[in-house]
Amino acid sequence: METIFSGIQPSGIPTIGNYVGALKQFVELQDDYHCFFCVVDEHAITVPQDRLKLRQQTLGLAALYLAVGIDPNKSIIFIQSEVPAHAEAAWIVQCNTSIGELERMTQFKDKSQKTQRGGVSAGLLTYPPLMIADIILYNTNLVPVGEDQKQHLELTRDFVQRFNNRYAQKGQEILVTPEVKIPKRGARIMSLQEPTKKMSKSDSNPKGFISMLDEPNVIRKKIKSAVTDSIGTIEYDPTNRPGISNLLTIYEAVSDYSIDELVTKYEGKGYGEFKNDLAEAVVALLEPIQIRQKELLESEELHRILDEGAEKAQQVANKTLTKMQNAVGLGRKK
Ligand code: ATP
Ligand code: MG
Repeated sequence: METIFSGIQPSGIPTIGNYVGALKQFVELQDDYHCFFCVVDEHAITVPQDRLKLRQQTLGLAALYLAVGIDPNKSIIFIQSEVPAHAEAAWIVQCNTSIGELERMTQFKDKSQKTQRGGVSAGLLTYPPLMIADIILYNTNLVPVGEDQKQHLELTRDFVQRFNNRYAQKGQEILVTPEVKIPKRGARIMSLQEPTKKMSKSDSNPKGFISMLDEPNVIRKKIKSAVTDSIGTIEYDPTNRPGISNLLTIYEAVSDYSIDELVTKYEGKGYGEFKNDLAEAVVALLEPIQIRQKELLESEELHRILDEGAEKAQQVANKTLTKMQNAVGLGRKK
């Protein structure tokens, strides 16, 4: 069975974009792959975070993984900082990556422009090496992510090839080269307020995103005020009509309708009716998830699952870390 690794940062509460681009795929893939799903809290501190809120969001995200249907009997769920191999391997990755490569990453360019308090951290630049470490530690074959992470995955593949070329002994490769898996549709859900910008959980304007824990009335209000255009028809044309096309993409992802079926269903109807129905579809998806997430947060079960997850992850990660340390000559031979 092939291996999957993916993670989400507890940098806020996951949005419907994170659901469509990442979480939904996780649930679908867990029957066919050996899966590691990580709450990447070390990534979250590349930008300033409030200590208590971060902890709350970390547990909340782990509970959300379970609430959407990730089954701990099939998949390994754990918190990144509870497996020290990630930070240790990341150092080796950093030392085999050039600054130039990292400065070219669009996520670094975007986020370093936005970060003000305390300036841009070195961690924001070395975010991709930590992500490379996350992936390679589990001998990952496939990484399900949204479209915005494609560039980091290309960097990962380049890194693995370079590392194997530099350090392979007797032609034996040390690290596995991963493939990226991006959903065909919904790989880039856009902001509800600025439909040419990616929806992000760390957006300073909460009207731009639907959080997975938003109350039904908040969801209804946000969808009602989502930016569309003055044309008034329900059609899919992401280039010229990004607002309504984004809403159609969300509708398809949260319901059993395809975009084509939705276009037919709403022929001759206006944005008002369409938005009302979409809001109800989103509420119907999220309400049971929210109830389950709350129950899990109040249970001991969550802690047991995370303890077990960290232990199982550690066993695999430490083996790869040792291989990497031996390859570069760190410490004494193990
Ligand atoms: P942040 O603003 O803190 O970076 P984020 O919303 O981008 O938060 P991440 O934790 O960085 O979330 O990403 C988690 C996963 O969700 C990744 O696989 C990423 O590609 C995916 N993802 C993020 N935003 C979207 C989006 N708008 N549409 C589809 N997938 C997305
Ligand atoms: Mg992100």
